Amino acid sequence: MQEILNQLKELSNNLYWTWNNDFHEIMEEINKDYWKWSSKNPVKFLNAIDKEYLFETIEKRNLRYRIHNLYRDYRKYITSRETYFEKKYYKTDKPEICYLSAEYGLAKSLRFYSGGLGTLSGDHLKSASDLGIPLVAVGLAYSYGYFRQVITDDNRQSELYELSDFDSMPMRLVLDEEYRPVKITIDLPGRKLYAQIWQLNVGRIKLYMLDTFVDENNVDDKRVTDILYGGEAEKRILQEILLGIGGMKVLEALGIEAKAFHINEGHSAFLTFERIKNTMNRHNIGFKEAKDLCYYSNIFTTHTPVPAGIDIFPKWMFEKYFGAYAVEDLKIDFNRLFEEGNNLYGQSMGDNFNMAYLAINNSNFINGVSKLHGEISRKMWALPESRSQIDSITNGVHTKTYLSGVSEKIYRKNFGNDWIDVDNIWKKISELPDETLWSLRNKNRKKLVGFVRERIIDSVRIHHESEDKIAEAQNLLDDSALTIGFARRFATYKRGTLVLRDLERLQKILEDKKRKVQFIFSGKAHPKDDGGKNFIHEILKFANRNGFKNNIIFLDNYDMEVAKRLVSGCDVWLNNPRKPLEASGTSGMKVIANGGLNLSILDGWWVEGYQKNTGWEIASPENYDSASDEEVNEFESKSLYDTLENEIIPMFYERDEKGIPVNWVNMMRGSISMLTPEFNTGRMVKEYHEKFYSKVR
Ligand SMILES: *Cc1c(COP(=O)(O)O)cnc(C)c1O
Repeated sequence: MQEILNQLKELSNNLYWTWNNDFHEIMEEINKDYWKWSSKNPVKFLNAIDKEYLFETIEKRNLRYRIHNLYRDYRKYITSRETYFEKKYYKTDKPEICYLSAEYGLAKSLRFYSGGLGTLSGDHLKSASDLGIPLVAVGLAYSYGYFRQVITDDNRQSELYELSDFDSMPMRLVLDEEYRPVKITIDLPGRKLYAQIWQLNVGRIKLYMLDTFVDENNVDDKRVTDILYGGEAEKRILQEILLGIGGMKVLEALGIEAKAFHINEGHSAFLTFERIKNTMNRHNIGFKEAKDLCYYSNIFTTHTPVPAGIDIFPKWMFEKYFGAYAVEDLKIDFNRLFEEGNNLYGQSMGDNFNMAYLAINNSNFINGVSKLHGEISRKMWALPESRSQIDSITNGVHTKTYLSGVSEKIYRKNFGNDWIDVDNIWKKISELPDETLWSLRNKNRKKLVGFVRERIIDSVRIHHESEDKIAEAQNLLDDSALTIGFARRFATYKRGTLVLRDLERLQKILEDKKRKVQFIFSGKAHPKDDGGKNFIHEILKFANRNGFKNNIIFLDNYDMEVAKRLVSGCDVWLNNPRKPLEASGTSGMKVIANGGLNLSILDGWWVEGYQKNTGWEIASPENYDSASDEEVNEFESKSLYDTLENEIIPMFYERDEKGIPVNWVNMMRGSISMLTPEFNTGRMVKEYHEKFYSKVR
């Protein structure tokens, strides 16, 4: 029994479990309430659970064998020398590529992410692990992370910040030989900033996260890593100094010699300075020479198509933190250093320092995150022909992370336990009989409806509301109704309320008792984004009107768990950003392997994914570039209603003698077979490796 406990502990300390449905099921079987209470954090779960009870339950429920198997698969995964990288390139145990990001979305209980940038970084690490890419990652361990969303009685978002207890999370402090925490230091005006380092294991990949909550720091500096995307510009510059400069110091402290550096969004671009400094010292050369050397091994991925999305700091602030650094460490005039983020081949930022300019000026490899976004970025930054141009690598998702247990069981039943390794698996899945594919949808939808009811009942209980309310919640939604999901950050460009534009028309759709339609919304607005918060308010007001409570739901506190449930359960995934502001978008990719279909504006990845037989487009007006916001919203919302009324709803409810919507199932076939093999991070990370990482010498 001790052996099985040790195996569970080892499993819980590697985020391999985040993409393993079996592991979740085993935890749930041991004790569902505890599992929920721990926020699905197995370290907390195993620390808290009574060991005798644990052993008894493992015996009683026959879990021993399942745990052994899981452990065996895990060991095989971790130690395999047959990965894509090792087969195609060479064998190595040393990380060679350093990846940096301000956020990582790895699990619900690790609140180090706010949205798509985070889940993309998390998925990047998971796929790098699957492929055996020798990559190491750096980030920040925010003690409060991103906020928890609470909906108030007057239908508004409020924010709650909860302290994470890192000691009961799947992460451990990096210690030296004398068991003292390894710390890095950064020179700040009049003081040093200290940070300790937490290590997380993402399969084969190590992620190091910096944490400034240490004794040596003053009260303000302790708070540098308290919350993600909170605070003022000066807090932000400190976080970015810690990530970029501190990130390089982590590698040095741990003896890691990376050869390529991937700056995932501008936040970490200060690393370019630290690399220049180290190169100057190592080779005894000047700034210019060192800068030219480092340039060829920096990779910059941009994620925003608008200048307003980029971090900018005023000159005085940049000078405060880099004035001495320029003169003493880099041995150049301050204004020369300022130019790195002020001047992009003649385009000037006036009195500001732009993190994207800094990254571009110092990176040979630059990419946007979809083909369209690549084009937009090339226009936005118009780089001279004499240098490397902006490429594009379309985003993906780590398929297994978002694949539900329900879907996986069906795939296993048909293709065996190693189904994911079967050649052309998605084409083969698309060739499963109508009944099988339709039951994939029905089972996933049913599971989602159960989850929504359970969540709402939990919240009714917490608020001590009446039994009537519980009974009401037990009947929310209909598990055979066409279910449409819209969930993502409530940034205004994503237009969360577009479907509410013509309430009469929407009401007609919702009132049809024969062809039932239901919507589930979810998402957080940034605490300072009043526009986004108002959108949430609009949806809640509408959802709480009598008559629609049953078929319009807003689920609070969107996180990775809610995301996984929604992308598995929804039949249609709605995406209606203002073009071309959605650089890629990834949530729509998460539905595909679960048999969901996309209804989307032709923006971001959908420009590449959409075909007549993979899903639906929301059409845009022909005079798009000259049209006002009003005109665009009017046109596109009409197209949205038209598509729902004339195509989607009829197709879903047109059934054959067995009750199967044959055309719908065929659309699923197109979506699964053509989109899943393309829009995943396995393909994406390979592309990063082949285009960029492997080109660095
Ligand atoms: C996938 C995901 C996102 C990103 O969704 P987009 O459609 O790209 O905006 C945001 N938040 C969570 C929790 C996600 O899982």
